[in-house]
Amino acid sequence: MSTQLSTPAAQIGTTDWNLTGIRTSRAGERCGHCPRTLKNLYDVENRVTGQKMTVGRGCCKKVTGWTLAAAEAARILRAAAIEARQAAVWAEFAAEHPKDAALLEADIAAWRPAWPSQANRPAHIKNNISRGATPRSWWAGCMREYRRTRCA
Ligand SMILES: [Zn+2]
Repeated sequence: MSTQLSTPAAQIGTTDWNLTGIRTSRAGERCGHCPRTLKNLYDVENRVTGQKMTVGRGCCKKVTGWTLAAAEAARILRAAAIEARQAAVWAEFAAEHPKDAALLEADIAAWRPAWPSQANRPAHIKNNISRGATPRSWWAGCMREYRRTRCA
């Protein structure tokens, strides 16, 4: 039996490989690269070729060329999970308010700060929506306010 921690894609270092999961297997599973039986399994996928493998951390380095520390592996998977969750919230917002989402995206792309450290306001709003800081019940009001005060 194996335990799946999570399955979002996270880039391994600067390589073409994504880490798609960290699993533990009580019975052990055969490494996809060497003959060893592993308890700690790293699922990796090449973004370019689509090749998928399950390897140990040592072979992860041999396959991807990147020394992946266990803590770093856990961290990039967590970050990818947060990113995926935020993208899902943004997709919900865009489905409910397509014109507002398109306006924010366009404003984010067109943003030029009036002074060097000026924050990208539409990006800030998108970020707040995506990470749930702006609750769903405020979405419409927040965008009314944005449309009223934005510099077009
Ligand atoms: Zn191996």
